Amino acid sequence: MRRGRRQKWMIKIAEERVNILFNRAQEELSHNPERSHRHVQMARNIAQKYNLKINSHWNRRHCKSCHKFLQPGVNSQVRLKNSRVEIKCLECGEIRRIPYIREKKERRRKKIEYNTFKKGTNEQIT
Ligand SMILES: [Zn+2]
Repeated sequence: MRRGRRQKWMIKIAEERVNILFNRAQEELSHNPERSHRHVQMARNIAQKYNLKINSHWNRRHCKSCHKFLQPGVNSQVRLKNSRVEIKCLECGEIRRIPYIREKKERRRKKIEYNTFKKGTNEQIT
């Protein structure tokens, strides 16, 4: 397979496989952690190969450092701190901080409002 020649249907299948692998990782975490972590690694490999973005739901369910599946209360700790979500991986100790989505949206809206306001009062194009 040549690089840069990825059909849409192939990407679609790759996306599905990533989803399935994460689902399996979640199912197997309690009774077969090693296999669960392997599933995450496989999913990451596929995502990388096809240049896929792992959706935000799964994105916060695995560790970016040790690539293991994270289950809050099992091997991860979730805390709210300074209007951010802190996810601590108990496998390797890595802490990820994710801003609240609600806040993000609001900030985006404000930015749009600001830009339209600027356009209305100032004709200059920057
Ligand atoms: Zn980790």
